[in-house]
Amino acid sequence: MIESIAAVFAFGAVIGSFLNVCIGRIPNDESVVSPPSHCPKCKAAIAFYDNIPLFSYLWLRGQCRACHEPISPRYFFVELLTGLLAVALFSRFGLSYTFIVSFVFTAALIVISFIDLDVRIVPDVISLPGIIVGLVCSVLGYFLFADAFDLIPTPLSSLIGIVIGGGFLLATAWIYEKVTGVDGMGGGDIKLLAMIGAFLGWPSIPVTLFIASVLGSVIGVGLMVATGAGRRLALPFAPFLCAGALIYLFYGDALISLYLPAS
Ligand SMILES: [Zn+2]
Repeated sequence: MIESIAAVFAFGAVIGSFLNVCIGRIPNDESVVSPPSHCPKCKAAIAFYDNIPLFSYLWLRGQCRACHEPISPRYFFVELLTGLLAVALFSRFGLSYTFIVSFVFTAALIVISFIDLDVRIVPDVISLPGIIVGLVCSVLGYFLFADAFDLIPTPLSSLIGIVIGGGFLLATAWIYEKVTGVDGMGGGDIKLLAMIGAFLGWPSIPVTLFIASVLGSVIGVGLMVATGAGRRLALPFAPFLCAGALIYLFYGDALISLYLPAS
């Protein structure tokens, strides 16, 4: 058991290393496969032995071997987070279709969150294909692979999730803009919520929005108090939506039974 957990963690950390490449390159419209890894500052190529997830960051003490510029701790953190989430999903779902789908979904959420934190953009190149992938996974789950965990939605629930996720926020953003004359929620958040609906089904939308709003308010107020920033402090919303979707992924059935009594 401990061997398989270690293997899943290592697998997650390796994928996390690739997610770091996506986070760094997608906002600049760069390819995520070529050129090979290089230092973002001095452009020196990174040898394979300096590119081992988690370990390399530690033994290089967070610096580029060539130019000694500090490497962002984000690299270490994303590898650790992806490894830990892979283990959490594995302990919940075992080696199953649900595990594969939820891990792909989680990886997309990680990339979107860190790009939004970095440059305040929810990348369409992840969210739009994500909507299609989520729908396709629900169709495959429905017809080919059993989902013993009731996590993967029916194709209909997935489709309604896309419509509600996209439509609800689109309507809210439109009303907010009409009333206040200010751009509210970004279009990127709307596509992200449609992707969440595609992967988790429509009941996930209100739960995700609720958790995201609570987390966003608590952390937003906390930051305003801590930094003394005024009400103009604009937090990126996508990481909160992603956190809400992840919490739903693990505790959705319990949360749903709170507002949708069992039939
Ligand atoms: Zn360098």
